[in-house]
Amino acid sequence: MADVYDVIIIGGGAAGFTAGLYAARDRCRALLLERFAAGGQVLNCEHIENYPGFPDGVAGYSLGPLLQQQATNLGLEMKLAEVQEVKLAGDKQVLQTDGGELRTKALIIASGSSFTKLGIPGEEEFLGNGVSHCASCDGAFFMDQSVAVVGGGDAALDEGMHLTQYASQVTLIHRRDTPRACQLLQERARAKEKLSFRWNTVVRAIEGDDTVRRLQVEDVKTGERSQLEVGGVFLYIGLTPNTQFLNDLVPLNDRGQIITDLWMRTTVPGILAAGDVRHESARQLVSAAGDGATAALAAVRYLRTGEWAEN
Ligand SMILES: Cc1cc2nc3c(=O)[nH]c(=O)nc-3n(C[C@H](O)[C@H](O)[C@H](O)COP(=O)(O)OP(=O)(O)OC[C@H]3O[C@@H](n4cnc5c(N)ncnc54)[C@H](O)[C@@H]3O)c2cc1C
Repeated sequence: MADVYDVIIIGGGAAGFTAGLYAARDRCRALLLERFAAGGQVLNCEHIENYPGFPDGVAGYSLGPLLQQQATNLGLEMKLAEVQEVKLAGDKQVLQTDGGELRTKALIIASGSSFTKLGIPGEEEFLGNGVSHCASCDGAFFMDQSVAVVGGGDAALDEGMHLTQYASQVTLIHRRDTPRACQLLQERARAKEKLSFRWNTVVRAIEGDDTVRRLQVEDVKTGERSQLEVGGVFLYIGLTPNTQFLNDLVPLNDRGQIITDLWMRTTVPGILAAGDVRHESARQLVSAAGDGATAALAAVRYLRTGEWAEN
């Protein structure tokens, strides 16, 4: 039978590593499972200026390894593995991973979310070849070309501004008439000469040959269709929670996010959730880290007392 951990954490983002740090510091035998690389969504952030403790901001690719280092220095174990299924066996959770079976007394789900797809022709076909979700990773490939960014939140404006370093023109396409992004980002974006906006517009298809050449777009107010010549398109239309491996084990809301109480506890004793994957999350690094700390403290209390309040 597989070894039993005190706490297993699914996901190596800000929520997961903070939970791991707290659990390990409380002398729990804690393991973090990550399917890709330390950092999670921070790896898609060019420059983070709203995470406390970094007065000049910090690059996402630097923050990921720092989160890992701090937690593992304090005793967190980490394994690169993808969790495929979670089941209950008495008061333990059994995890099936691509690296074998693991058991734990408490489970913290910090699996974050993945970019939502538009579901339009050309999106899958050109992914990695003109279609991207990461301006900081792929922006330099579009030197002196026209590109489009789809979305109206912080990520879309932030990444659109980043792209103005490389692209000749950046068109931000949003289906509403005003962005959702914070005021500071809106002010900065409007001041960028190379950045223009197409409001009330949706993309109907991404077309090209060996790479992206144009978008078919539609004005949602008038229904008028037109073409936009671009060499690339960056999609930031939202995030879908990574909960597929749970198979209805814990209650989710109608957006697929895990329902928790204020201590990050689900209704299933021993199972908690933290960060972007849980309902009512502010979906920020600092709130993900805060959730991770809260979840670990609640998990440790459960391990010590066996108590699990109703939520
Ligand atoms: C482009 C962009 C820019 C952003 N900029 C900012 C910013 O400037 N400031 C800010 O505060 N926030 C920013 N955010 C939001 C911030 O990145 C997230 O709120 C935060 O990273 C969420 O952390 P998390 O730990 O909850 O999840 P994530 O960072 O998503 O981490 C979840 C991890 O779980 C792993 N995982 C998922 N499923 C499994 C599985 N089955 N098995 C194993 N591992 C799994 C994933 O690989 C991932 O590494 C930005 C987001 C984006 C997309």
